[in-house]
Amino acid sequence: MNSLKLIIIGGGPAGMTASIYASRYKIPHLISSSFVGGLAKEAHMVENWPGIEQIEGSALMDRFWKHAQSYNPEFQLGEVKRVEKTENGFRVFFSDKLFFEAPSLIFAGGTQHRGLSISGEKELLGRGVSYCATCDAGFFKGKKVAVIGGANSAIMATVELSQHVDKIYLIYRGKELKGETIWIDRVKNNPKVILVPETNILEIAGTSKVEKIKLDKPFKGEDQIELDGVFIEIGVTPLVDLLKELAVDLDESGSIKINNKGMTNLSGLFAAGDATNGSGGFRQIITASAEGAIASRGVFEYLKEKGVL
Ligand SMILES: Cc1cc2nc3c(=O)[nH]c(=O)nc-3n(C[C@H](O)[C@H](O)[C@H](O)COP(=O)(O)OP(=O)(O)OC[C@H]3O[C@@H](n4cnc5c(N)ncnc54)[C@H](O)[C@@H]3O)c2cc1C
Repeated sequence: MNSLKLIIIGGGPAGMTASIYASRYKIPHLISSSFVGGLAKEAHMVENWPGIEQIEGSALMDRFWKHAQSYNPEFQLGEVKRVEKTENGFRVFFSDKLFFEAPSLIFAGGTQHRGLSISGEKELLGRGVSYCATCDAGFFKGKKVAVIGGANSAIMATVELSQHVDKIYLIYRGKELKGETIWIDRVKNNPKVILVPETNILEIAGTSKVEKIKLDKPFKGEDQIELDGVFIEIGVTPLVDLLKELAVDLDESGSIKINNKGMTNLSGLFAAGDATNGSGGFRQIITASAEGAIASRGVFEYLKEKGVL
């Protein structure tokens, strides 16, 4: 493994695209991920990847992976636990005994779902509370659920759930839904969907499973709704804990700051995708992929300049 010149952390759209470009630049590299396909696997249907009018997120990610694998990069499945700066680059630990070293690193670790931090959310997780409609919609056939959130991921989750459940309350804080107009129209025209604007959820209640939610103001005269499931879709936060020890610069939203070559404030450490500020908070497969490509080109130039490639 001493010939490695680059380690990529993250096997989502950004990491897989970075790997494809690194292979084409002939940069010997290792791509590692705790989960192949990333968040895009949760997308029920992707309708904005150019060249393919409609494809399931998991099918699109399988194609990305097949493409990346066709160049035979080193691959390590598992969670990176720690990253150390060394004299010549970076050491990436999966455990105390299993680690890899390279002069450059691309971090493409993406984001994690944001929670509501209300009573019942943790307690009833997996017993009616979910952060993934694609994964769990099938368990709610013929039931009544709520989706919490007013942006694209909540709207898309609602459309997906409507294929399974009988009734969906889409509950959001703002006056209007914010997302792609085409998806908003689908929600508004769906007879199973009940819009509950300008409302917060205060508590998820139930003994062994979700039974009801409590609202901060009455909806149709009731301040609680009896239902079977709650899908929380209120956005994401960048997964950057791994880089904290390295003192990588973050912006005010907690995203990794990168320059136009994908490099962070640390020489040789690049980042791409949803974890960065590179696309102004526009977190999409296309922007993550573009940042992955840019980061690999940045690594290529960096390694050439250092004389290690
Ligand atoms: C429900 C839903 C629907 C969506 N629909 C669309 C859509 O239709 N169109 C669109 O363009 N976008 C869509 N998106 C957004 C899109 O999925 C993301 O923008 C994209 O996946 C970001 O790619 P990424 O590679 O930056 O991060 P991610 O996809 O989050 O991938 C990060 C990867 O890094 C891995 N990782 C993290 N930390 C570590 C670690 N310490 N060690 C090892 N591996 C690690 C994770 O396991 C993960 O596989 C959707 C998102 C959701 C949730």
